Amino acid sequence: MSNIVAIVGRPNVGKSTLYNRLTESRKAIVDDFSGVTRDRHYGVAEWVGRNFTVIDTGGYVANSDDVFEAAIREQVIIAIEEATVILFVVDVTTGITDLDDEIATLLRRSKKPVFVVVNKVDHGLLQSDASIFYSFGLGEIYNISSMTGSGTGELLDEVVKTFDEDVVEENTLPKYAIVGRPNVGKSSIINSLIGKDRNIVTPVAGTTRDSIHIHYNQYGHEFMLIDTAGLRKKTKVKENIEFYSVMRTIKALEEADVVILMLDAVEGIESQDVNIFHLAEKNKKGVVIVVNKWDLIEKNTKTVKVFEETIRQKLAPFTDVPIVFTSVTEKQRVLKVLETANHVYSNRAKKIPTSKLNDVMLPIIENNPPPALKGKFVKIKYITQIKGTSPMFAFFCNLPQYIKEGYMRFLENKLRENFDFTGVPIQIFFRQK
Ligand code: GDP
Ligand code: GDP
Repeated sequence: MSNIVAIVGRPNVGKSTLYNRLTESRKAIVDDFSGVTRDRHYGVAEWVGRNFTVIDTGGYVANSDDVFEAAIREQVIIAIEEATVILFVVDVTTGITDLDDEIATLLRRSKKPVFVVVNKVDHGLLQSDASIFYSFGLGEIYNISSMTGSGTGELLDEVVKTFDEDVVEENTLPKYAIVGRPNVGKSSIINSLIGKDRNIVTPVAGTTRDSIHIHYNQYGHEFMLIDTAGLRKKTKVKENIEFYSVMRTIKALEEADVVILMLDAVEGIESQDVNIFHLAEKNKKGVVIVVNKWDLIEKNTKTVKVFEETIRQKLAPFTDVPIVFTSVTEKQRVLKVLETANHVYSNRAKKIPTSKLNDVMLPIIENNPPPALKGKFVKIKYITQIKGTSPMFAFFCNLPQYIKEGYMRFLENKLRENFDFTGVPIQIFFRQK
């Protein structure tokens, strides 16, 4: 179920300011001690309990040449095709420009919901200036100030109403998405798995239009593969190739149960990879890391360990993730990727019986109780796993608000040590009892 909100508009209207306000990227700047500079053009946002991905299209065009207007027009077209909702940002202080008009013309043809977002309405006096934007003929306008945040709540209330309901599909096959930067070997691994049956590949009804789902059923494995590699659409503007591939990756990721993130052993792990990983983690998807082109690496007895450590360092704090080293061209460990994905899939669906959970965890907690805070002692009484698509645990205790991040991590590590949750994000909640 993918909900992708694309922010479009000409430069300087405040797209990236709005993007930062909607996503957690401001927090990420502070949190980011992994040493990787993340590109911050897409990220996860949450409003009234609904998660969605926001993408700032402005991040994908260079800021100063002739292709520039053409690039923006093309982006709007891609956004109309790929996003669930479009936020068309304009600037109250400049009024309507020619480029605004051009974008509006493209958007009037869109069947997707379009919200006209009038930005920089920092105070009430500007409200009346904003009404000129009704002349786009795109319906209601939403006056906001990305700088102060005013009006964004009202906007998001309406945006989330356009989303599909979160439905839990039952009895469906596991869905695996193979994602990664260009040239890492995505097409090669898919070809090696399905061989010449490639042309039996058919889009499956009910899935996102024209995303390619491959029904795999061989060697005792049955699942759906979501292919992002085969979907290279021609764009006229070079800068939009990345934009397009990011849109595709986000969609595949949101549909998948397990994300198979492929890296090139020679290139190593880069900021884009880390970004995709965090997106998968925030969406509570299972993850398998595949380091491909292993044949090109000079190896000694320590090489695997060094690679694993470097990768995990960049993925921190979620490091309990399987890493498979493959050479698709030499047919090394390709099936191991599938076995690992199946394993992660079953970890994500795993339900630990309450009695077992308490038998294991309560003695651990007894020996390492939460540190006392202001003379108060937290007593954890029992634990249950909450029903959901990914593992969630509720710890019932007297003073839930007194539990700190560090202790939460301790509990997560103990859950991981005692019950195999490799490859899946775990959520922990503390509840009053
Ligand atoms: P983008 O090019 O569309 O991504 O625009 P930016 O987000 O980079 O913003 C362009 C300029 O407008 C920056 O100087 C921002 O500080 C400013 N800006 C963004 N939002 C607001 C707002 O709500 N009010 C005011 N007064 N300025 C804003
Ligand atoms: P994609 O863009 O991620 O789909 O990557 P491709 O599958 O098109 O592969 C890009 C290039 O890498 C092709 O020339 C492949 O033959 C090559 N390649 C793929 N896997 C391997 C591998 O395991 N080892 C080596 N040496 N080359 C590989």
